[in-house]
Amino acid sequence: MHRAKSSQSTLYRHEQGLGPAPRVNIEQELRQGLRRNEFELFYQPRVCLRTHRLLGLEALIRWHHPEHGLLSPSEFIQAAEHSGLIVPLGYWIIDQVCHDLQVIQSHGLTEVTVASNLSFRQLQDEQFCQVMPRLLSRSGTDARMLEFELTETAVLTDPARAMKALRAVNDMGATLSLDDFGTGYSSLTHIRQFPISLLKIDRSFTQRVTLDREADSIVRSIINLAHDLQLRVVAEGVENPEQLDFLISNGCDQVQGFLFSHPRPLWETLQMIDHTLRH
Ligand code: C2E
Ligand code: CA
Ligand code: CA
Ligand code: CA
Repeated sequence: MHRAKSSQSTLYRHEQGLGPAPRVNIEQELRQGLRRNEFELFYQPRVCLRTHRLLGLEALIRWHHPEHGLLSPSEFIQAAEHSGLIVPLGYWIIDQVCHDLQVIQSHGLTEVTVASNLSFRQLQDEQFCQVMPRLLSRSGTDARMLEFELTETAVLTDPARAMKALRAVNDMGATLSLDDFGTGYSSLTHIRQFPISLLKIDRSFTQRVTLDREADSIVRSIINLAHDLQLRVVAEGVENPEQLDFLISNGCDQVQGFLFSHPRPLWETLQMIDHTLRH
């Protein structure tokens, strides 16, 4: 397990030379990072292809590590999941999302939703169904402005418990999206039992459209499948106008990607929206 992680985590690799128990180090550092408020949510816009309007912002976590600088989630989320620290970190994320939503609304963007990613470990927390409504009511957040993104694995690792957690979230009024669609192995019939309203096409497919006929047909089929199931569909990782044109002409509903904006700190994202996406 350590090995698999080390290939992904530069932080871990760095720690390897420092002592015999690198895993313990990153756990301690994560815990300390939480206490010292070293995490920040960056935001990336999601845009409607029909109206060109900004629909939502996805929160993507970053860690301002005191020694290693700005770390992206691939360098620490797995460690946070393995250690269980994703649970307190996840509540911090949701709390921060609620706070940022108020900033977004007072900026005049009252119809924009905020999406955040939920890991399977968060759904397994026994307190989840109690903590979530408390976090939202404490900040006076309207759950209808929140979306939660889950992968197939997150949903299907422990389907019964996930169902309970996701029903609770859905009953509060929040929307659920299926992230990284196309990369999992699960059957759609199984997924369909969950209250999901949006499919996000994984960027590994988006990035091959117009270059690779197979990718073209996969993306086209996902779009049609989503629509047959009355789901909206978002393409992630849109980087160039060719991909955008393909998605438009094949009826994709929404897009997200570097073509519009990289994930950036909230304030920078709001400024960018003022300049480009505001209507
Ligand atoms: P994801 O949820 O699939 O997020 C999309 C990732 O694609 C983000 O990477 C984003 O920066 C990147 N991306 C967006 N547009 C483009 C593009 O046009 N081209 C390319 N090449 N990449 C693009 P990021 O921020 O490094 O996050 C990676 C993953 O870490 C996320 O994948 C998500 O699974 C996880 N993650 C991020 N934030 C959180 C969080 O708050 N909680 C949890 N549990 N997981 C998170
Ligand atoms: Ca996501
Ligand atoms: Ca994704
Ligand atoms: Ca992903």
